[in-house]
Amino acid sequence: MIPLINCSAINFDLVYSTVATRPHDVFCCLTCGSYFEGPGPSSRAAKHSMTSSHGLFIQLMTGCICQLPENTLVIDPSLEYLRRACRPDYCSPYDVLEKAVRYQRHNSLVTGYAPLVNLGHTDGLNSVIQLFLHVPALVRLCLADSSAHSFVELCRKLWNPYALHPTISPVRFLMDSWLKTQKFGPDLPTRPLLPHFVMWLMSAGLPSCEMFKGNVIKDKKPHPMTCLKIEVPDRTITEGTRDLDGAESLPSIPLSNLLAPYTLAEPPQYLVIVLDRGETKKQRRCRTVVDPGEGSAFFDGRYRLLGASFFDEVVDVDQKTRTPGERFESKAILRCHYDEDEWVEVGLSCRRVAGNVLSKAVIDVMIWAVN
Ligand SMILES: [Zn+2]
Repeated sequence: MIPLINCSAINFDLVYSTVATRPHDVFCCLTCGSYFEGPGPSSRAAKHSMTSSHGLFIQLMTGCICQLPENTLVIDPSLEYLRRACRPDYCSPYDVLEKAVRYQRHNSLVTGYAPLVNLGHTDGLNSVIQLFLHVPALVRLCLADSSAHSFVELCRKLWNPYALHPTISPVRFLMDSWLKTQKFGPDLPTRPLLPHFVMWLMSAGLPSCEMFKGNVIKDKKPHPMTCLKIEVPDRTITEGTRDLDGAESLPSIPLSNLLAPYTLAEPPQYLVIVLDRGETKKQRRCRTVVDPGEGSAFFDGRYRLLGASFFDEVVDVDQKTRTPGERFESKAILRCHYDEDEWVEVGLSCRRVAGNVLSKAVIDVMIWAVN
C-alpha cells in the first residue's frame, strides 16, 4: 500500500543547504513535507520513516521516489506528477512557451504567470525577476539547462505545467543573491536598490551570462541584451493634470522624450530600461510617470514592450476603492506569450489587465524586444 501523500504539505522550493552537505542527499517526505538527509539506514530520513510511519520520500535533486527505510526505488506511473513537479523536464525548450500556454487553458493554474511569494519586502525584486523570467531567449536558455543554478531552477519551476501550487517561492534564488552580494535579499527595504539589482542581474546574477550577452570583441556580435539607465526628472505634483472627475494625477513624460538623446548603432535584441527615481533611504522617490507609449516614437520604431515592473500606487481604478491600511506593492505587467494583445499583471496575485494601464503607472524597469 502506498503511504499517504499530502500535496498541500509538500513544497519543493525551500532552502535545503542546511539539511545535508551534499544536495543529492536531501530527501523530502511526501506525507509531511519535511526535508531530511538520506537515504542510508541510520540517516535522519530513515529514522523519520520508522518513527512516524511516513515511508515515501523524493530525492530533490533527481525527483526519484523511494521507500524508506528499505531504500527501494518506487516506480509507479501514478506518482509521475510528483517527479515532474519536483524536477520539471522540457523535451524541446524551443516551443515550451507555446506548450505551457496550451496546458494553461485546460487548467486553473496559470503556467508561466504564477505569483512569486513575497519573502518580506521582496515585492520589488520579485517584479523585476518576473520581467526577466519572461524574456523569451533567456527562458529558453534556462529550460534547456538542467544545472542547479538557482535562477535556472526558478525559471524552470515558474514555467512548469505540473507545479503543485499556484505560487512559486523565489527563496533559493534570493538567498543566493543575498549570499553573493549582501545587498539583495528578504527583509530589507529593497525598492531603492532596484536599479542596482538589475545591473547585478545582468552582470552576474543570470545563468550563462557571457553566453547570453555575447562577446562583442570575440564574436563581433552585438549584445543580445543591453541596459540603459535613465534618470527620471522630478516634477512637482502641481505640474500634473486633473482627470475628468477632478482627481489629481501624477505628472507624466513620454519615454520617447527621455530616449531622444540616445542613438543605437547596433540595436540589441532586448533593451532593458531602468528608470532611476533617485530614491535613497532618506530621499523620497520621484513619482513622475514615464509613459512607455507604443514604441513607434523612438529608435525607428524597432521595439515593442515585453513588460514592465511598477510600483502600484497610481492605477486609478484601484486607488478609489482602496481601503486605508492596504499595502502597496511592486508588480509586473507582462505581454502574454500566446496573445500579443493580452497583458497579465502579476503581484501577489495574477490577473488580466489592459496594456494601457502602464501609461499611468510609476514604472521602475521595462524590457523591450526588437520587432
Ligand atoms: Zn514525514
